[in-house]
Amino acid sequence: MSIIDNYLKIKEQINMALDNSRVKPRNVSLIVVTKGRSIEEINEIINQKHYLLGENRVQELREKYPQLPSQVEWHLIGHLQRNKVKYITDKVKLIHSLESFSLAQEINKRMESLQKTMECLVQVNIAGEASKFGLSKEETLPFIKEVAGSLPWVKIKGLMNIAPEVENPEEVRPYFREMYQLFNQIKEANIPNVEMAELSMGMTNDFQVAIEEGATMVRVGSAIFGPRY
Ligand SMILES: *Cc1c(COP(=O)(O)O)cnc(C)c1O
Repeated sequence: MSIIDNYLKIKEQINMALDNSRVKPRNVSLIVVTKGRSIEEINEIINQKHYLLGENRVQELREKYPQLPSQVEWHLIGHLQRNKVKYITDKVKLIHSLESFSLAQEINKRMESLQKTMECLVQVNIAGEASKFGLSKEETLPFIKEVAGSLPWVKIKGLMNIAPEVENPEEVRPYFREMYQLFNQIKEANIPNVEMAELSMGMTNDFQVAIEEGATMVRVGSAIFGPRY
């Protein structure tokens, strides 16, 4: 299968998952994850008029950024170090991986100097995996209140998680369901300067289950471009 065939199949599978979803009505955005892919491969997607792309490393985003059309809307989906924030503030639309107050402070400082806000999702380590970044479920609401109350240039737009790697995606359905509950709980808290609009969850192996449980953004790489080597 070609990249284009894969892309069209994923779009179809997203619509099927939406039909099966308990949570409706809503839209799901597909973030095509381009890490490790060449400009030629990425251009096949852009030729389909798909401009929503995700990178997990700052260095790779900086290399690709000038080589792709300005219509591209970049999302930073991977771990972000404080000393790298300055390289992306003028390039990305949404940071999916806010997970510490010190990172939020650095983003706030950089955005203040640009007099612009940065939209961020809070990364939640819902399964409590030692190998993953993110706040615990219990830390998330207090963290959001603290950021929203003190850092006006950081605009929290929702939550993100990376599910444990399992063979059968049904095994991670309970985590997606917990994420959706947490998302609603924070939405109902009506915190000033916070808009719980996006729930970024689901990757190649589990995006359909994530959509069925309430995802509004899925991040898909290898199902479109093939396995990473
Ligand atoms: C690589 C990556 C993805 C996409 O992974 P695939 O399994 O290739 O779809 C999604 N989210 C994050 C944070 C990633 O690093």
